[in-house]
Amino acid sequence: MIEISQHGPVTRLTMGRELDGKVLYRVAAYLVDGLLIDTGCRHTAAELVKTLRGREVRQAYCTHYHEDHIGGNRLLQEQLKVKVWAHPRTVSLIPKAPALYPYQELVWGYPEPALVLSLDGDCIQTANCRFQVVETPGHSEDHTVLVEPERGWCFSGDLFISEKIKVIRPEEDARAIMGSMEKLLALPYRLTLFTSIGRIVPQGKEALRACLEHLRELQYNAGRLQQEGLAIPQIVERLFGGESSLAALTGGQFAAENLVKSLLKAEP
Ligand SMILES: [Zn+2]
Repeated sequence: MIEISQHGPVTRLTMGRELDGKVLYRVAAYLVDGLLIDTGCRHTAAELVKTLRGREVRQAYCTHYHEDHIGGNRLLQEQLKVKVWAHPRTVSLIPKAPALYPYQELVWGYPEPALVLSLDGDCIQTANCRFQVVETPGHSEDHTVLVEPERGWCFSGDLFISEKIKVIRPEEDARAIMGSMEKLLALPYRLTLFTSIGRIVPQGKEALRACLEHLRELQYNAGRLQQEGLAIPQIVERLFGGESSLAALTGGQFAAENLVKSLLKAEP
């Protein structure tokens, strides 16, 4: 399934694998000025190429190495001759990506190997825009966002999902996520967030600030409860009223426990 919508000069492509008429999970890519930002997953790659045929797509950029952001690379290259770029760290991590969990294989699938070019420098030039690559580790160690300062656009990948984030994966680093959000907040212009779940947030900085506040509050409360002698599952119970249902569905991958543990980690 692919849904297309237009937001000024930005085209949003929301994709998801469909099984028995139900879309499992949605992930978005954005096309702007001939640049495709993220390429979705393997299961939607053929449909993506079909949708983009006849549109101007010169190059693509992947915000990080996860399978739901690089899955269209191979077909885009082969069939539309699109050049695919990524941060050098992303390029080095793609071949080292760990085996997928069953839920990941079902929802997104293994990306086909593709040639991803290492971006030299910190910006991508298109015909009319200049996108700055900003390193925003935390969700993954290689995570980057693309910022277009003149228009205040921020293609934020998986950095920001919602103001009240409750679950993360074990490899995510909540403190680094907070640092990356602070970095974006320090930019001297307003930001519209174009997120990988397809949510477009015109008041991007307010949303980032709200998320940061939420995480700081969780961190403070988790620390206080830990000092009182509570164990992690008890802290999760007190802060969230129990573990998220997503944890059971994903074998503990998306869990509140991971968020609490990460927030409580000692300063490096
Ligand atoms: Zn990701």
